[in-house]
Amino acid sequence: MRNLSKISTKNLSDAPFFYENWQAELADSLSDVGELYAYLGLDMPDGYYAPRGFGLRVPKAFADKMSKGSLKDPLLLQVLPDIQETILAVGYTHDPLAENDQNPAKGLLHKYKNRVLITATGACAVHCRYCFRQHFDYQANMPNREELVKIGEYISSNHQIDEVIFSGGDPLSLSHRRLLVWFEMMNALSNVKTIRIHTRLPVVLPNRVDQELLSLLKSSPKNIVMVLHINHPNEIDEVLANKCQLLRQAGVTLLNQTVLLKGVNDEVNTLCKLSHALFDMGVLPYYLHILDKVQGASHFDLPIARAVQIYWQLLENMSGYLVPKLVQELPNRPYKTPVNLHQ
Ligand code: SF4
Repeated sequence: MRNLSKISTKNLSDAPFFYENWQAELADSLSDVGELYAYLGLDMPDGYYAPRGFGLRVPKAFADKMSKGSLKDPLLLQVLPDIQETILAVGYTHDPLAENDQNPAKGLLHKYKNRVLITATGACAVHCRYCFRQHFDYQANMPNREELVKIGEYISSNHQIDEVIFSGGDPLSLSHRRLLVWFEMMNALSNVKTIRIHTRLPVVLPNRVDQELLSLLKSSPKNIVMVLHINHPNEIDEVLANKCQLLRQAGVTLLNQTVLLKGVNDEVNTLCKLSHALFDMGVLPYYLHILDKVQGASHFDLPIARAVQIYWQLLENMSGYLVPKLVQELPNRPYKTPVNLHQ
């Protein structure tokens, strides 16, 4: 299944080895647009857009995967603030999935019947410009100790819940100590069969996958599923492949979700290359998402007819298990909605 020789080794020599730990590496992320231009050897434009709220944030390990000197780099396009974010596009909102109405307790979203979603932190290692939670009020939703107890009670008293999803912000940006608290709580709930972690951290800061994390995951009696978020094959290199191998050895099932983004990955060849690279490192392509209509991200959207056209070509060119499900999330639907391929 794995053929690591197919994976680029160009970044191995760049792997940061001089940080004390992943937190120190995270703290050294790029957070200034000018600094990112300089880091990538790009000429500074006369003016550039630097948003106030959801600012730039890019770990250097992720910036190292970008081509130097190219403003069109598909990884750069995902993180570089763009003046088009200020467009007030019709149909785009601050809460595209109406999540603000589905919080039975602070930090807990119950949108789907058998599973709940926990936003244990608002922090992310990287700020993706298309993120559907970029306006989410994490501060107002952050559970304190009391609410943590409430969350535990809510889950244990709802017996249809068998899966708990830790989602964005990025749960792996939590310290080991805080992650441990959450795991101890979930491990103790008998109706919880599976703990799922949605994360981009192993991709943008692979050193986050350290021995402490691997031991924590390995020691849990629950099924552990990790859903990575990789949009482009250039995000995959041997460093990440090695981390995925360690995660799988720790008993973690690895899946990937991708957001279809105009100008970044809206080509059949790119998506085929991505699926193959994922499979080579033991990760199954899971979802291909239509962009959620969040205010500020309309320039990444592409017509649904184009998405469907690309999808048929994926089906034509790859084995079924390499083709992720094409879905969109619609407000107040208790599932991800499969896109109608006959439109
Ligand atoms: S929640 Fe996920 S998509 Fe959103 S900014 Fe964080 S890492 Fe990116």
